[in-house]
Amino acid sequence: MGFEVLGLGDKLLKAINESGYTTPTEIQKQAIPITLMCRDVLGIAQTGTGKTAAFTLPMIEVLAGGKAKARMPRSLILAPTRELAIQIADEFDKHGKYHDLSKTVLVGGTSMFDQVRELEKGVDVLIVTPGRFLDLYDRGNILLADMKILVIDEADRMLDMGFIPDLERIVSLLPPLRQTLFFSATMPDAIKKIADKFLSNPKQIKVARQSSTTDNVEQFIMNLHYKEKLDTLIEMASSKEVENAFVFCNRKKDISGVCRGLEKARLNAGEMHGDMDQKSRVATLDAFKTGEIKFLVCSDVAARGIDVDGVSHVFNYDVPMNAEDYVHRIGRTGRAGNTGKAYMFVTKSDTKFLDGIQDLTKQKLNEYKLGKNTSAISNKSESVSKPKKEYSDNKPKKEYIDNKPKKEHLDKKSNNNQNPKQEPLADNNVKGFGDDVPLFFR
Ligand code: ADP
Ligand code: MG
Repeated sequence: MGFEVLGLGDKLLKAINESGYTTPTEIQKQAIPITLMCRDVLGIAQTGTGKTAAFTLPMIEVLAGGKAKARMPRSLILAPTRELAIQIADEFDKHGKYHDLSKTVLVGGTSMFDQVRELEKGVDVLIVTPGRFLDLYDRGNILLADMKILVIDEADRMLDMGFIPDLERIVSLLPPLRQTLFFSATMPDAIKKIADKFLSNPKQIKVARQSSTTDNVEQFIMNLHYKEKLDTLIEMASSKEVENAFVFCNRKKDISGVCRGLEKARLNAGEMHGDMDQKSRVATLDAFKTGEIKFLVCSDVAARGIDVDGVSHVFNYDVPMNAEDYVHRIGRTGRAGNTGKAYMFVTKSDTKFLDGIQDLTKQKLNEYKLGKNTSAISNKSESVSKPKKEYSDNKPKKEYIDNKPKKEHLDKKSNNNQNPKQEPLADNNVKGFGDDVPLFFR
C-alpha cells in the first residue's frame, strides 16, 4: 500500500516520492486519513515509527490554500526540545516544497528579533518549545485567534521535563474550536489526564511495541564493576563493527568525563546535554550526522526524538532508572528497517532498574561477555590512566590490537584480516579534516 490511498494531494505525493518514502508506516496509515477529516488524534507509538510525517503530511494538506495574517499563526506544534523542533521543521521543508506555506521555529538560544520579524510576516506553521513560545506570547508578539491546529509531540517527554504546567497554560489560551493532534510514546497516568483534557472525542491510534524498534535491535547487558565501565566502552567502541553510536549517561556531570575518555582513546566523540547553548547543540548534532563525530555522549533529555539515520549501536553507559527511557534509548538504533545493537553496562546496584526494564519489555536480556581474557580490560585501565605515555609515541595502541576476545565477538570483518595491527589506524580515521588531520589525532 502506497501513500496515494491516504487522501493526500498530487503535489504532496510528488514531494513524498522525492523524499524516498514509498510505503506509509503503520501510524501514518492510520493517522493521515483521520487528520484529513479534521478529527482529533491521540497517537501512541514508539520512537522511530514515523510520527513526524503522520502529522506534518496531513497538516500541509489541511493548511494549503489558506494564508496566515500577521502575528496570527494558523497552526502550532509543541516539541520538548530544540533539536526536535528543528527536525519537525526539516520534515515540513522536505514535504512542503511544492506548497506555499510559511513556517517559523521558535526555540530558545536563537535571536528573538528575527523570530518576531517572521511572526510579523504571518506564519502558517509555528514550531516551538513551550518556554520560548510563552516568552513571545507574553510580550504580545503572537495572537492566537486564528489557530486551527495544535500538535503536541512527545508528550511523555514534556512530562519528564516539567513542561505540563506550560502546556496547560498554552492550551488554555487557544481557541476551543480547533483540531488537536497529540503524540506520545508511552501513556503514563499524567499523560492520559492531560490528553483527556486537551482532546475532544479523539481517534486513538496505538501502534504495538513489537512492530517498531525493539525487533530490529539486538540487546545485551554486560555485568561490570563501575570502575570497568569506561575501559569497556572504549574497547567496545574501538571495534570496526561500531560505525557510530549514542552513549547514554544518567548524570549530566558524567557526560564530559566519558566524552574525554573516548577522545583520549582517539575515538571522535561529542557531548550533548540540556545545558548547552543552541549553537553548539546544532553543531554537535551536525557533526554526528556527517560522521565527523562517531560517538554522541548524551543524556536522555538531549537525545529524545533526535533522528539520525543508520546509527549502528547504542551504549547504555548507565542503566536508566526509568524503564521507559530504556526503550527510548535503544530506539535510537534499528530505525526504519535497519538493524542495530544495544549494550547496557550493569553494576550490582542496578539490579532493581534492570528488573524494571525486563518487566516492561517482557524479555530477559542476554549477557554479553568480552571473553575470559579479562586481562585485556585491566591493561586498559592502566592505559587510560596514563594517557600521555600512550599517545606520545605514534604506534597504534597495543591493547586495541591484541584483544582477541573483542574481535571474535564484535568484529566479524576482522576475522579475515591477517594483519590486525592495521585495524586501529583504520578505526581511527579522522573525518572532516581532509588531508589536514591535526597531529594529535594521527
Ligand atoms: P518518531 O517521531 O516516531 O520517532 P520519525 O518521524 O522521527 O519517528 O521517523 C523516524 C525515521 O523514519 C526518520 O528517519 C524518517 O525520515 C523515517 N521515515 C518516516 N516515515 C517513513 C516512511 N514512510 N518511509 C520511510 N522512512 C520513513
Ligand atoms: Mg518524533
